[in-house]
Amino acid sequence: GERFQRPTLVDDAVVEAIRDMIPLAPLHNPANLDGIEVARTLFPGVPSVAVFDTAFHQTMPSATYRYAIPEYLYLKHRVRRYGFHGTSHQYVGERAAAVLGKPFDRCNLITLHLGNGASATAIRAGRSIDTSMGMTPLEGLVMGTRCGDLDPAILFYTAEQLGLDNQALDDLLNRQSGLLGLCGVNDMREIHRLAAEGDDRAELAIAITARRIRKYIGAYYAELGRVDAIVFTGGIGENDAEVRHRACAGLENLGIALDDSANLSADRGERAISAAHSQVKILVIPTNEELAIARQALAAVGGG
Ligand code: AMP
Repeated sequence: GERFQRPTLVDDAVVEAIRDMIPLAPLHNPANLDGIEVARTLFPGVPSVAVFDTAFHQTMPSATYRYAIPEYLYLKHRVRRYGFHGTSHQYVGERAAAVLGKPFDRCNLITLHLGNGASATAIRAGRSIDTSMGMTPLEGLVMGTRCGDLDPAILFYTAEQLGLDNQALDDLLNRQSGLLGLCGVNDMREIHRLAAEGDDRAELAIAITARRIRKYIGAYYAELGRVDAIVFTGGIGENDAEVRHRACAGLENLGIALDDSANLSADRGERAISAAHSQVKILVIPTNEELAIARQALAAVGGG
């Protein structure tokens, strides 16, 4: 929701606020509240800190976070873009700034968190100004089992043609779509293996995934005007040279050029994979959400 913009010490009011936002996150908030309540019961007197995956995106301007639907849906029902993976986008953004040798608040970045869930973020001067996930994590890139961007009218059509109710539609788009829907498998390593054996569906799944990523790179480049670096992270972003190659293909005129041997190298860890002449650096930065959460929690309780 809009209430929490930073890591927050948990008290009764915070618990109530998270409960109040259950309609926005019906799957996540009740389970997370259970965790908070159990921890508070088992460890009375030990502070709990809530770190919100939406918080980093609270700097998005209204021109980014509002949808072009009637205003009352935002005002009364809180329908807007919130974005997710904020902890990861912020962490890899800060690490990218360190690799670039520039303060984070002077960096313009496109961060690509490509895992089973996937999202892209445009960061201007260290702040999120746009992100591909929306009111829920369903919007944006192609994911393991989520469709990402879609004509919303497909919902009415499918509901009518197949007689689906809301729960079935939710299941269809969140759990049966994406890579799984396209080729029957949602593990990218297996999809590459199938594609190498000549499986056309697996090849198409990779092509649609990479094309969508490239489209967002272009869109966020246009929003940012100047880009210091594109950052790949997540299971696919960190390990999948083929997807990185396809996502960056044909962008040389935008000053985005991969170094193919660096991209293919078996190196792990933080590294640059752009060609020497590439105006925009291309970085692989392993994410570490647990470390980022631990540091933010420590800072929230006044630790050093
Ligand atoms: P995550 O949700 O960040 O753990 O990412 C999971 C996704 O990363 C799955 O689709 C995995 O198949 C994919 N992945 C992990 N390792 C590799 C790899 N070496 N090459 C391609 N995809 C990978």
